[in-house]
Amino acid sequence: MARIVMKFGGTSVADLDRIRNVARRVKREVDNGNQVAVVVSAMSGVTNQLVKYCSDLSPLHDAREYDAVVATGEQVTSGLLAIALQDIGVDARSWQGWQIAIGTDTAHGKARIQSIDGSELIKQMDSGQVAVVAGFQGIAPDNRITTLGRGGSDTSAVALAAGLKAERCDIYTDVDGVYTTDPRIVPKARKLSKISYEEMLELASVGAKVLQTRSVELAMNERVRVQVLSSFSDLPGTMVVDEDEIVEKENVSGIAYSRDEAKITVRRVPDRPGIAATIFGALAEQNVNVDMIVQNVSADGTTDMTFTVGKADLARAHAALGGIKSQIEYGELLEDPNVAKISVVGVGMRSHAGIANTMFRALADKAINIQVISTSEIKVSVLIAAEYTELAVRALHTAYGLDAT
Ligand code: ADP
Ligand code: ASP
Ligand code: MG
Repeated sequence: MARIVMKFGGTSVADLDRIRNVARRVKREVDNGNQVAVVVSAMSGVTNQLVKYCSDLSPLHDAREYDAVVATGEQVTSGLLAIALQDIGVDARSWQGWQIAIGTDTAHGKARIQSIDGSELIKQMDSGQVAVVAGFQGIAPDNRITTLGRGGSDTSAVALAAGLKAERCDIYTDVDGVYTTDPRIVPKARKLSKISYEEMLELASVGAKVLQTRSVELAMNERVRVQVLSSFSDLPGTMVVDEDEIVEKENVSGIAYSRDEAKITVRRVPDRPGIAATIFGALAEQNVNVDMIVQNVSADGTTDMTFTVGKADLARAHAALGGIKSQIEYGELLEDPNVAKISVVGVGMRSHAGIANTMFRALADKAINIQVISTSEIKVSVLIAAEYTELAVRALHTAYGLDAT
């Protein structure tokens, strides 16, 4: 008998029929003799609606009340799935984050899990009851409900698997595994039977939504065996494994895109020490994360500083930069939300030259202009106009020989 965690995303619990389908899958694992904890997301679309209610009422709302609102989507599905399980003869009950308890820090809207007290839950599971856990939520030391950032139910599932010392954590979603790129925009994408933690972490952090970045980080640190698979088919999924378990290493294993960033250019900044510290210091003070950065110096002793921030942070970044205008006397501020970041990821980059150049050549062949470039040990990212996102991803997928034959 094994203890396992099964996580079902929004599309998998989108209506009552799908919740019944999930209940049947859970029953199958119970009938196989396993102890099961299930983590559920909200019905698809529900979290977006709840987020919109908050921002429509007040754009700069109290993050603690935002959490009180958006955590409710998962409360509904956890109760519904428990009912569906009971209905087919499976003993089950729902658990909210605070009931377990899943302890987090107080960073409302993007809280991090700090502790899980699984003792009561384990007691109930030992007696044969399925635990249906509301994903995405926890409780902060101030006794208020927190949420873990969009896509956070993946992290709830991995953290629970670590806390319960589960044998594996199965992430059921609307695709049957991790592909070489988003199969919704590249029909020729190939399913990977295995992917390394490092590559999955990098892909998630540059925009591949299939797993939340923190869930991969946690799985890697806590050695949780994560598998991504479909809740609508019985096809084998993708295992996230250690790099040395992968025999055939590709130079590039995946391509990701993100339309969540906006580009800012601070023009004609005096080129002297301390300027970058002032600009990025002002942004950091407002909790604005900066991603890609490029600086061009011109002959007249001024420089243009271009960088990207999350689209959701654009208004705060604008205000922060407005506040230092008199201090550093820049020329003008340009903002462009219509950009996309395209990234190629692969551990093979550590040992192969020319990977970035293949990217630049493929984009040039499609006449796509590169606005900013950034690299890490196993990744190259470029910023381009958003309208070329699909074209760029498809061209790169072909250029790196990833297309399914
Ligand atoms: P869930 O609601 O189950 O958490 P998500 O929408 O968060 O599902 O994640 C699944 C989606 O991730 C897929 O529908 C797919 O469009 C997208 N995706 C992006 N990149 C990839 C990739 N490399 N492999 C598989 N899916 C991907
Ligand atoms: N329901 C939350 C969201 O839409 C969490 C999740 O689905 O993982 O972001
Ligand atoms: Mg998700």
